[in-house]
Amino acid sequence: MTINSKRSHYSNQLDEKTIGKHVTVGGWVEDIRDIGKIIFMIIRDITGPMQVVINQDDFSQAREIPRQSSILISGLVQSSKAKGKRVEIKLENIISIFPAQHPLPIDPTGRVESSIDKRIDSRALDLRNPQVSKVFLIRSKALEVIRRTLSDNHFIEVNTPKIIGSASEGGSNLFSFDYFKKIAFLAQSPQLYKEQLILALDRVFEIAPYFRAENSNTVRHLTEFQSVDIEAAFVDYHEIMDIMEETIKNIIKELTNSNLVNIDKNETIKSVLQSKIPELTYKECIQELNSNGEKIEYGDDLSDSSLRKLGQSHPGFYFITEWPLKLKPFYIHEKEDDEFLSNSFDLQVGYLELISGGTRQHNPNKIRKRLQEQGLNPQSFSEHLKTFEWGMPPHSGCGLGLDRLLMVLTNSINIRDVVLYPRDPIRLTP
Ligand code: ATP
Ligand code: MG
Repeated sequence: MTINSKRSHYSNQLDEKTIGKHVTVGGWVEDIRDIGKIIFMIIRDITGPMQVVINQDDFSQAREIPRQSSILISGLVQSSKAKGKRVEIKLENIISIFPAQHPLPIDPTGRVESSIDKRIDSRALDLRNPQVSKVFLIRSKALEVIRRTLSDNHFIEVNTPKIIGSASEGGSNLFSFDYFKKIAFLAQSPQLYKEQLILALDRVFEIAPYFRAENSNTVRHLTEFQSVDIEAAFVDYHEIMDIMEETIKNIIKELTNSNLVNIDKNETIKSVLQSKIPELTYKECIQELNSNGEKIEYGDDLSDSSLRKLGQSHPGFYFITEWPLKLKPFYIHEKEDDEFLSNSFDLQVGYLELISGGTRQHNPNKIRKRLQEQGLNPQSFSEHLKTFEWGMPPHSGCGLGLDRLLMVLTNSINIRDVVLYPRDPIRLTP
């Protein structure tokens, strides 16, 4: 046996069928219990813990191995008397050890709690805590289901540039930087590209990071976040709402089937499976807020405090539709029978906004007018607007904040809990 010996099994592959087999396993030493003649070592790999039984006459040095060292061992699988364990490994050989240096910055078993800041500072170690790694297994599974559901709905995955030469949606929240003596920006959304792409590809989606230069120090904003963006030709915003609802339901079903989440412990995601996501119009929200004593007028944006009020009476998933046009970006379509309103929606979970979407304006002259109304120069959008002369069909789309969806799926209050290496106005490392 050498350092190049191959691992033969992961922890979750050790069951009664492997009893009597010689196996090679690797992982990190979580615990060592020394009861005299026998030493019990718990080694954890990404799939779970395993108990290794060590005869101290053969491997007395085992008790000196620092916790959290990585270790590759071989041994014989035998049935176990330990509570909750069916099998254990009787150590035959220690193949390699890469010792962990103590003191460690955090305790990755979670027995000693650390603040989220300290944990992120040592994220690679923090992830050895199964509660933490589970969040990222959930994230990975969610991405898998999103790709599958959208592809089943005939969406094509695309990749658009994140370095752009002009502001994609206008506004001041763009990061800019020097680009070979020119100024370039980091994309705040793929909006313009995805609208152009449906001219030929019909339905597209993109999962990518976007950047907002907003000094928002909240538990739901990052300066770099992942967005799931979709755009489709010849559909209206209600169809987009249906596709996103199907996607979210599929994610929850699959996370439940693979035992990654227990819906009985998360009422919010349990309830979404039981019925259609309810729809409230913006107007109904204002009426509800007014009747609860909130000072807000028809036409005002829903402030943080208004959203928190709404969140109290609607703690689960709900759509807010038909927003005033002036509150929405220039590319949103007005409502046909009431031009004050728009064909738009947000998907909320309590106070938290998950998705913004809508039917897009496909008449370039109306877009020019709206750009002007919003203080933007139509000239700077000429590259984009020229594509509207090439047969732009009616179309709709939306952007889903993946990190915020993960907060809901994992019942996390802070977005930093569900992002490996979060970027916010203060944090740029690790
Ligand atoms: P908010 O009002 O909550 O700041 P927004 O309306 O500015 O969000 P949109 O431009 O509508 O955001 O972006 C679409 C989605 O992307 C949002 O619904 C949200 O889920 C996500 N998102 C937007 N900004 C951020 C951010 N700074 N950090 C994390 N997610 C974000
Ligand atoms: Mg929004």
